[in-house]
This record gives sequence, C-alpha cells and structure tokens, in this order.
Amino acid sequence: MTGRFAPTPTSELHLGNVRTALIAWLMARREGGRFLLRIEDLDTQRMAGSSQIAARQEADLAWLGLTWDGEVMLQSRRANAYAAALESLQGRAYECFCTRRDIAEAAVAPHGDGYRPYPGTCRELSAAQRAERRGSRPAALRIKAAGVVQTVNDLWAGDVTAVVDDFVLVRNDGTPAYNLAVVVDDLAQGVDQVVRGDDLLSSAPRQAWLTRQLGGEVPRYAHVPLAVNPSGRRLAKREGDVTLAQLRDRGWAPEQVVALLAHSLELARGRDRVRPADLLEEFAPTQVPRSPWVVDPDVVLGTGPRQA
Ligand code: GLU
Repeated sequence: MTGRFAPTPTSELHLGNVRTALIAWLMARREGGRFLLRIEDLDTQRMAGSSQIAARQEADLAWLGLTWDGEVMLQSRRANAYAAALESLQGRAYECFCTRRDIAEAAVAPHGDGYRPYPGTCRELSAAQRAERRGSRPAALRIKAAGVVQTVNDLWAGDVTAVVDDFVLVRNDGTPAYNLAVVVDDLAQGVDQVVRGDDLLSSAPRQAWLTRQLGGEVPRYAHVPLAVNPSGRRLAKREGDVTLAQLRDRGWAPEQVVALLAHSLELARGRDRVRPADLLEEFAPTQVPRSPWVVDPDVVLGTGPRQA
C-alpha cells in the first residue's frame, strides 16, 4: 500500500493542510504502507520563492513527525515522464484554441465547483482550420473523452459519478496540466491510495478515467472534508488563517499541534501532547468526520500552547 501527500508550494501549510497530511499519513502507516511526498510545483516553478516555500513545507511536515519514504518528488523535474504519457495518448488528444471566454460563452452550465465542462468546440477542426488558428494563438492540448461517464468510489463520500469532458492535458503555455501530472506521478510512484482535500473530489472521475487510459489501476480515494473558519470559508494562508509557522513562533511544540489535530478527529482525548505514531493504534478511517473542521484562528492563536 502506498499513500502520499502532494502540496503545491504557493503558501505555507496551514492547519487544514497539515490535518489532511496527518490523515493521509495515518491511512498509509496503519496498514504498514509507504508514505510519499511530492511537491506539485509545475505552476509555481517560475514564481519567486516557491522553492523556499517547498522547503518550508517539507520542514513543517518533518517537524510534526510526518515522515515520508525516499526522495521527495518534484513535478518540475518530470517533463520527460509527462512527455512519454502524452506520446502514449497520441491520436487521442487534439489542439484547442478556445479562450476562457469562448468556453464560458458556449452553452454548457458550470459544475457546482465552477468548472466548465468543455463543449468540444475544437474537436472536429480540419487540418486547414487548425493551421489557420495556430497563426493567432498557441494551442492547449485536450484529451478526447467525449462525454464518457465515470464513477469512482470515495471512502467517505461514496460513489461519485461524473461525465468526463475533453479536459486539458497541456496548457497553451506548454505546461502539463494538473490532471495529467497527478495521474502520471501517482502511477509512477505506485500510489494506490489518494487521500487529499475534498475540493478535489470532483476531479477524481477525470483522473480515474485517465489512469485507465494510461493502463493503470484506479487508486482508492478518500477525500477529507476541508477546514473552514467560523464563517464557513475554506482556510487559506492569504486570508490570514493559522499556519504552522505562526504556531511554532508562539511556542507550540509539534506534539501540541498534533494533539490539536487529533482532537479534531476525536483521537487522543484528554491528551495535550501526542506524536503521529501514538495515534496509529486508535485511528480508524471511520472516525474522520464527514463535515468540515471549523477552526477559529482567534481561539487557536489566542490560547497559545496548552499545558500538558
Ligand atoms: N497539489 C494539490 C493541492 O495542493 C493536491 C493534489 C492531489 O493531492 O492530488 O491541492
């Protein structure tokens, strides 16, 4: 069994991120499985500071005791693997010249998560039409899925069925798209259990389908309800939500942070300091609450470290 945690290095890890990491770690380690770390820096490699953020994310996880096996995988070093996958999908992908606006204006209703299924505008372009469009705009590359229906089973959400649209494999700036990279990397790393935030639940049918197209086995999925602030907004670093660095600066010990996370999972009751490994025996996947974890930054930062 192999699980993983795959942060994007856009900001420091906040409490919601590390809670998801702890759950992914427990889910893998309780079965004696491997746990891998992958930095999803495809989009961010050109952004100032992303490698320092990635280094801090690694340091935060290590500080908490969320140990991983082997080398950290960096998506920015995986261009050859993505190219090889694209090669094997050849003939099933096509160039797309649509702008966001073109897609928004085509009459397809957005999904609940705001994602607009691609209406297939460029699927049937002739060679001459493609040649003409290349002159005015760089093309993205889309996979021909053409409305296949895919169901995935999520450990907590149950069956999720969605129509798979012709989603993007390579963006028009040449960057491999998230859905391609995540599937190629999970296959390459032998990941068979994907535990991550439930903001990605709606991506799972697309990814499961692509996994099959690349000849792989669909992993088990378990999407963790996100952490929210008291007004119900998802935690986000840029909104000033609690980061690990802030807690550390205020004198919290890693065992105290893990205890806070454990209490949100109804684990380690009555204990104010625990290490991840201490939770292995008590943890059961059924214990993970099905509703978001409400974090009040004022309460967490105001109380400071709890005394053991
Ligand atoms: N990199 C994604 C994120 O930070 C997670 C991708 C995944 O776990 O599949 O939200």
